[in-house]
Amino acid sequence: MEKAETLVKRHKYIGKSCALFFSSDPIKITRAQGQYMFDEADNRYLDCINNVAHVGHCHPDVVRAGTEQMVQLSTNSRFLHDKIVLLAEKLASTFPDPLSVCFFVNSGSEANDLALRLARAHTKTTDIIVLDHAYHGHTISEIAISPYKFDHTGGEGKADWVHVAPCPDTYRGKYNDKNCDPADFGAKYAQEVQTLIEAAEENGHRVGAFIAESLQSCGGQIIPPKNYYRDVYKYVREAGGVCIADEVQVGFGRVGSHMWAFELQDVVPDIVTIGKPMGNGHPVACVVTTPEIAASFTATGMEYFNTYGGNPVSCAIALEVLEVIEREKLRENAVVIGDYLLEEFHKLKEKHPLIGDTRGVGMFLGIELVKDLEKRTPATVEAQIVITRLKEKFVLFSADGPQANVLKFKSPMCFNKDNADELVQKLDQVFSDLEEVRSKNGPVGKMAYENGIIDQSGVPKCLVAANGDVTHPTRDN
Ligand code: PMP
Repeated sequence: MEKAETLVKRHKYIGKSCALFFSSDPIKITRAQGQYMFDEADNRYLDCINNVAHVGHCHPDVVRAGTEQMVQLSTNSRFLHDKIVLLAEKLASTFPDPLSVCFFVNSGSEANDLALRLARAHTKTTDIIVLDHAYHGHTISEIAISPYKFDHTGGEGKADWVHVAPCPDTYRGKYNDKNCDPADFGAKYAQEVQTLIEAAEENGHRVGAFIAESLQSCGGQIIPPKNYYRDVYKYVREAGGVCIADEVQVGFGRVGSHMWAFELQDVVPDIVTIGKPMGNGHPVACVVTTPEIAASFTATGMEYFNTYGGNPVSCAIALEVLEVIEREKLRENAVVIGDYLLEEFHKLKEKHPLIGDTRGVGMFLGIELVKDLEKRTPATVEAQIVITRLKEKFVLFSADGPQANVLKFKSPMCFNKDNADELVQKLDQVFSDLEEVRSKNGPVGKMAYENGIIDQSGVPKCLVAANGDVTHPTRDN
């Protein structure tokens, strides 16, 4: 099909709220391999976006594992079969004790929904603490615990059983390097959680759970300060609650030094949710918990059944993903390439005043753009321009954070040194070009406001074209 025809059909048959990347000028991807995607003209794009294609797009071993299983057996998990127990055993071996019981589902949203059910069954209360700007999924229950959604356009606001703690962002958050001793960051942000627990109790609510990504991605590639989770988990458990780590984006070795990002903070959650990278593009996700919490769920007397969750094909694929991570030493690669990229990003920061902060760990990196280094005004429009220019240079990048001004790097884990050099060189060029334009034409913010890209406070909004087409800024969710 011609690209124009695909677009016409997409507009006609796919809901307009399902946004496309680069929606004002989408690329049509026809195939992908490793860390590359190819359009209909066979242009090769370097993929810095797809954390789902974790071990590389269409990895031959993963494809083979899925195909062979599909030829043999594909049915629901009520039949006794080997793949589900082999996968559960292998997964459990990657988690610290007592995390050892698996519930297989099909998506991150389903995993988080089930995590809420487990927490409620165990603690007999629904109140939960979430982090500001968090995103945990697209179902009704997950929108309810995602300020990223309920607090924004189309959202219905916060429910009274949800309590929102400040995001532990030490660059832009409540406690930052300008108003707080870095040694106190962890304790200060954790104290905010304790204060919420106490305030909820005063209002007759008992907090039963805390959920957070181990490193907040949609919040803008946030690396929590030292000891933050240690203290938070302590407060939540003292209040009788359980701690849920959402590893849907950041798990499976993306951080390099560890398989799971919560391990960076030396804590052990009560419930962990995993998804996206788990099937390398195939829909499979999981909730991992303790025997004690699983027993509380069983004790409700309600059976849990999920038609596709844990089917042999998904399990064969997820097993092979785990094997490939080990066999190809992808965690080691994440350390080497991640460290190298972060160092190069720091150098770009020294050179380009548009860059306010660079941060990250392993292959989870962020470049925060600001209009003004002193005031740290988010450079939302500039981020969109950078992404568009990179696309023209055949590099795929996205931006996120509450103001969509944080460039996110989360490529497939096979990203190599040549790829890193290409990326840095192109970023350098794009920043230089943009700075030249800015020096000639003044800030681009006014133009963006007048064109409907941002609202008065600089928050990105949809563009609605004369024909009714809705264009969203290129961001993650
Ligand atoms: N949690 C996090 C942190 C996510 O980033 C996402 C998806 N972006 C989800 C949960 C939901 O996963 P899914 O889209 O597979 O339902």
